[in-house]
Amino acid sequence: MNEGKVWLVGAGPGDVSLITVKGLYAIRHAEVIVYDRLVNPELLRQAPEDCLMINVGKNPNHHPIPQDEINAILVEYARQNKQVVRLKGGDPYVFGRGAEEVEQLAKEGLAFEVVPGISSAIGGLVYAGIPVTHRDYASSFHVITGHMCQGNDPQNWHAFAQLDGTLVILMGMTRLVEICQQLMAGGKSADTPAAVVMYASQTRQQVARGTLATIHLEVERQQLHAPALIVIGDVVNLHDVLAFSATQLEIDQEFVC
Ligand code: SAH
Repeated sequence: MNEGKVWLVGAGPGDVSLITVKGLYAIRHAEVIVYDRLVNPELLRQAPEDCLMINVGKNPNHHPIPQDEINAILVEYARQNKQVVRLKGGDPYVFGRGAEEVEQLAKEGLAFEVVPGISSAIGGLVYAGIPVTHRDYASSFHVITGHMCQGNDPQNWHAFAQLDGTLVILMGMTRLVEICQQLMAGGKSADTPAAVVMYASQTRQQVARGTLATIHLEVERQQLHAPALIVIGDVVNLHDVLAFSATQLEIDQEFVC
């Protein structure tokens, strides 16, 4: 790797061993890593010792580093011909604003490469024993943000209520009650199975189960909070059969890539 480049890398939902071989390669060769709050810090230990680490983590309520500044950091180091890794939780193009960062690099004529990651919306649910599709229960799935930034149209929950497929809602925890109410008002049965999965794929993962009408009570009882996935649909019931305990793997330093 001689020329500077920004690698936009998806880190997966939290279990470190879900990073791709190509993502690990980028981390192992990085000179600068710009990472988010949802990235497992264990992954950063795979970087070279002299790698510069920049934390641009955002909390749901405060945004310590505005997007413009993140873009500017990437552009600055790319211009210095550095190997820059922009490490994001899950897949970088699923509600990660990754595309905006790459658009900026493209505009500046800077080299980039994107390495997909396992999205929490699919892979995270796997760890909770919830398949997003199943021949008998769901022939589509829909990944929705529960949080719209100012200026954007509010989500049309009544339209989503008409969909038969599995609904997976990210960034929805602060509006859980409202979202469930809107879906019921839009025609979804109050009995529709619902689950909330906090820290999916991590050792601290917790799952709450209920229905559209009751899930918020279980969430309150277990005191679940972000980051969490809300999943609505009959596939939730498969948790009873498909839940498993995951093997904890560390990334072997001897593993060369
Ligand atoms: N690009 C990420 C999503 C970024 S949006 C991806 O593909 O997974 C951030 C939201 O993703 C969080 O608010 C939460 O709803 C969800 N999320 C990400 N990682 C999660 C995890 N390990 N467990 C539960 N939810 C997670």
